[in-house]
Amino acid sequence: MFSTKSFGAGLAATIFTLSGAIGSLTASAADTFVTIGTGGITGVYYPTGGAICRLVNKGRKEHGVRCSVESTGGSVYNINTIRAGELDLGVAQSDWQYHAYNGTGKEAFIKAGPFEDLRAVFSVHAEPVSLVARADSGIKHISDLVGKRVNIGNAGSGTEATWNVLWGAMGHTNDDLKLAAQMKSSETPGALCDNKIDAFFWLVGNPSALNKEAATTCDVVFVEVNGEAVDQLVADNAFYRTATIPGGMYRGNDDDTPTFGVGATFVSSTAVEENVVYQIVKAVFDNFDDFKKLHPAFAHLKESEMISDALSAPLHDGAAKYYKERGWL
Ligand code: GLU
Repeated sequence: MFSTKSFGAGLAATIFTLSGAIGSLTASAADTFVTIGTGGITGVYYPTGGAICRLVNKGRKEHGVRCSVESTGGSVYNINTIRAGELDLGVAQSDWQYHAYNGTGKEAFIKAGPFEDLRAVFSVHAEPVSLVARADSGIKHISDLVGKRVNIGNAGSGTEATWNVLWGAMGHTNDDLKLAAQMKSSETPGALCDNKIDAFFWLVGNPSALNKEAATTCDVVFVEVNGEAVDQLVADNAFYRTATIPGGMYRGNDDDTPTFGVGATFVSSTAVEENVVYQIVKAVFDNFDDFKKLHPAFAHLKESEMISDALSAPLHDGAAKYYKERGWL
């Protein structure tokens, strides 16, 4: 379903090199092509990958790293595909970074065992749970989802994996829903407004184009995601925290909505060369003011928090090298 562009990029590198030899293209044999796995195009992962690549590609003549972005199914897909060596880097929720590194949290990760070569690069924006319901659905709290039609996240998303943890912690299974839909995120605002589902659940930075699309297309409410099970999850796990979706950000959400969430993190593996990750990190942090302007969800990012928060896997050597140069480690 999703193409493995790092494979295609390798092919492109070969073609460029051959063409370079006959003088028609300028890319040199030293060019390294990297692909970042992201998420659905109306989420925040996709523009995050785009922002990183934009800064990397500006300096590609000097450092030879060429960056491209792939739209994918999200966190779990990105981690699994990095593990398979078919993606170089990816954006992933902090909870699934933790679980992949430790071989915990979901059956496939337990079966595969700890992903010891997983490496953290930096963390990005906060990702609170957005639970968006039709205004006429009567849903006011996450516990009201029993018997409703809910999009719980597509297979391969961090969203679906975290839904299963939360709904399980609340004492439920998906059989307690009338429908547990698994559409990809970009399809959910249309499905909600066409009354095919009552609500969609997902973890995403704010503001997101997708939440805006839902809120401006039909009458929606942002639903509270709190209570005992959430408190317990936050108390037991460093990667969860309570959060709010600020009132006034989306139509239908005039007041703050209490919820909980994780952090978006940027990850890679030991298979990616130190200098490549170094150049990517340098492109972002040497141009940090530009980076923050590339998406409104980045407005409040602070460098120090990005290299200390929500990172469970060891730092990639190339990232650590840059942070040491800046005196941050
Ligand atoms: N956190 C979501 C996931 O991994 C993706 C969010 C986004 O695309 O911005 O499923």
